[in-house]
Amino acid sequence: MAYDAIIIGAGLAGLTSALLLARNGRKVLVVEQHHSPAPVVSGFERQGIYFDSGFHYAGGLGADGPLLPMLRYLGLADKLQLFPYDPTGFDSLRFADSGEEYCLPVGFANICNYLVEKFPAAATEIGIYLNEVASTWRNTPYLDLDVDFADFSMASVHGSSLQQRLEVFSPWPQLQSLLSMHCLLYGVAPDKAPLSLNAQVAGSYYHSAHGIVGGGRQLIKALLQLIGEAGVELQCNAEVVSIRAEKGTAAGVRLASGEEIFAPQVIATVNPVLLPELLPDAGLRPAYLKRLKKLRQTSSAYIVFGRSKQPLEFLRRRNMFVQPAADIFSGIESPLEQRPFYLAGADQDGNGTVTGLIGIVPAHYSEVESWGFAGKKRTEQYRSWKKEMTDRLVQMLRNNCPELSQLELLDLATPLTLRDYSRAPQGGIYGVARELGQYNPLPVTRLPGLFLAGQAVTVCGLMGTMVSSCLVCGSILGHEFLRGELKKWS
Ligand SMILES: Cc1cc2nc3c(=O)[nH]c(=O)nc-3n(C[C@H](O)[C@H](O)[C@H](O)COP(=O)(O)OP(=O)(O)OC[C@H]3O[C@@H](n4cnc5c(N)ncnc54)[C@H](O)[C@@H]3O)c2cc1C
Repeated sequence: MAYDAIIIGAGLAGLTSALLLARNGRKVLVVEQHHSPAPVVSGFERQGIYFDSGFHYAGGLGADGPLLPMLRYLGLADKLQLFPYDPTGFDSLRFADSGEEYCLPVGFANICNYLVEKFPAAATEIGIYLNEVASTWRNTPYLDLDVDFADFSMASVHGSSLQQRLEVFSPWPQLQSLLSMHCLLYGVAPDKAPLSLNAQVAGSYYHSAHGIVGGGRQLIKALLQLIGEAGVELQCNAEVVSIRAEKGTAAGVRLASGEEIFAPQVIATVNPVLLPELLPDAGLRPAYLKRLKKLRQTSSAYIVFGRSKQPLEFLRRRNMFVQPAADIFSGIESPLEQRPFYLAGADQDGNGTVTGLIGIVPAHYSEVESWGFAGKKRTEQYRSWKKEMTDRLVQMLRNNCPELSQLELLDLATPLTLRDYSRAPQGGIYGVARELGQYNPLPVTRLPGLFLAGQAVTVCGLMGTMVSSCLVCGSILGHEFLRGELKKWS
């Protein structure tokens, strides 16, 4: 079979890229190392409750939202039912020491009014700051379908850190917390996070916050159905061990099984740190490969999947961030019990009773490194350590949230789980860290025919991965053509 393009990885970026190309007449093969597609986002069931694993909510899907033309063009809009998060408070923040709680409403103007009411002395600065976020968060190709590519540089991340920008709010540590809490959703601490990165992620949620009925599982089901209809082939249990290059251009891939598959275009959605190993003879500059190898990763996490006998009303159509005390968010280096964390309900449609809980507590890979043997087999010692960790985490959640007094743990993902499911180096929860000063991998590489898509190229999440797919497929199909197609659905 002759393919026009082979895509490595069947995550959100791989499936979206496949659909974009196939819709435009390309013959596409997607290869995925895991036994099933989208291991990060597909979710799983325990004791009758569906738990999302890599998708809880998305920003930018409200009226005028920049993701809507993409969903419509891809055919996803007809297959997904969105439900809005609580407009009066989609993300709440609790301080463990005081029990004090804040709740951000949906929409820039509502957030501004709410914050000004809570912190009247900071009114002017709040207005200036939110205006900055509102005017920058979607200022990127394919979120803004008119932005000039020439004005847009992705190669490295410059500018101020979020922490520096929030210094102006230092008399109001609660406000600093509220404006920095979304760093837990991209895995970079505020002192290293570019202001633009925080604006992209937090700004999309300030604009609007939606869940998908059926969660990540439904999103993947819809994508699989659409790529099937478009004629894309998908192979799972198909690990790529090298990317072939011939006469200075990409030529295909070699699988762990020894099979070689040929195509003039290869799109890699793997973590770019893994790329140099896959490109032994491609003739790429050693300096480029070294840069890729040295890319720092986002923090990892312990992910608690639990169930409560008592309904978790406080997590219906909203998430909760918990911080030990008001301050700019930090603390991954702190002892476990003093770290901030994030809670989401296992909420399938925003209407039912929520009894399932997903808790994400930042972690460092070094905490599990001694268990980090190659392969997925776990030892008895690891299992007993995990049991102990489970008890500590449940206790920590209960101590901070009385609503969780009836919490029972059903499963726990550790940095090793993240590493093994999707080949995330060091269990990085959101892939490569888009830290200040760090090189950003670009969608078009120096090897003609080899492209990079996925969260490392743009930003993590549904929005970032879809934009990355447009950047790559636009490079292949023509940006003006693809933007023109998307504009028809604006
Ligand atoms: C706990 C958690 C919660 C999240 N919550 C949200 C949320 O609420 N909203 C949101 O928008 N985003 C959320 N995200 C982020 C979002 O899930 C990711 O940004 C997105 O799934 C990344 O997609 P990707 O295609 O770039 O990467 P991946 O999903 O990692 O895809 C890469 C694929 O490549 C495969 N692969 C790797 N190496 C090889 C190889 N050699 N050969 C073949 N295949 C290979 C991997 O198995 C993987 O399937 C969350 C993520 C996590 C982990």
